[in-house]
Amino acid sequence: MLSNIRIVLVQTFHPGNIGASARAMKTMGLSQLTLVNPRCFPDEEATRLAAGAEDVVINASVTNAMADAVADCVQVIGASARLRNLPLPHFDEPDRMAEDTITVARSEPVALVFGRERFGLTNDELRHCTHQVSIPANPDYGILNLAQAVQVLCYELFRAQQRTQQTHTHQALPRQTPLPSQEQLAHFYEHLHRVMKDVGFLTQPHARTEEHLHALFARAQPSRKELSILRGFLSAVEKKAQDTNP
Ligand code: SAH
Repeated sequence: MLSNIRIVLVQTFHPGNIGASARAMKTMGLSQLTLVNPRCFPDEEATRLAAGAEDVVINASVTNAMADAVADCVQVIGASARLRNLPLPHFDEPDRMAEDTITVARSEPVALVFGRERFGLTNDELRHCTHQVSIPANPDYGILNLAQAVQVLCYELFRAQQRTQQTHTHQALPRQTPLPSQEQLAHFYEHLHRVMKDVGFLTQPHARTEEHLHALFARAQPSRKELSILRGFLSAVEKKAQDTNP
């Protein structure tokens, strides 16, 4: 289960935070680390702060864009102290997030994404997330150091996994219907965009229509089967539009 959970750090500025995050992960049984565009990596400071978790740092994958880091994931949770105006499903209790994520991670890859030290995750990066999670903290000073935020959420995942192993009543069943990966969702959104444009539906560029629809699908969490029905429907609309306007 924990091996299906990937920690993604976006554009980390201080290499020490990469090492400290790796250590936080390993203490909680996690090992899959992906770095998106780190400022300085590999770096001695990262290795030094990893203490006994150098293996997590050495085996980290590095990508240029967040989309590549999460393409195969069916659930992508952005950690952010601040609520944005994107209507993403939001966990304000990390233990609820952990229970949900552990259930999904029984069969599919999931990612927990952390932002930059200075300005967190951009809105564009949050658009690649299916959910957002916030760690409750002092309302006047609620932003944790990056590695400490990684520690808190990894702890919750570890505890949630222990709970599912220990209590029969809490044993979560794997989902009956598999969720689509981010890559499959991205293909669906491209298809939707193309059809809406072709049939003349996207007439008001400022209405944020597509953003609202993305949020709707993020909340609904369609299964792979449901997504393929929607794609079939879009293809039928596309064909009809072509037949009427050859
Ligand atoms: N200055 C940034 C926050 C940087 S802290 C901002 O204002 O957004 C670095 C990262 O740690 C954040 O991007 C987030 O992923 C995580 N983090 C810090 N505090 C958090 C909190 N209270 N809840 C969830 N994630 C948090």
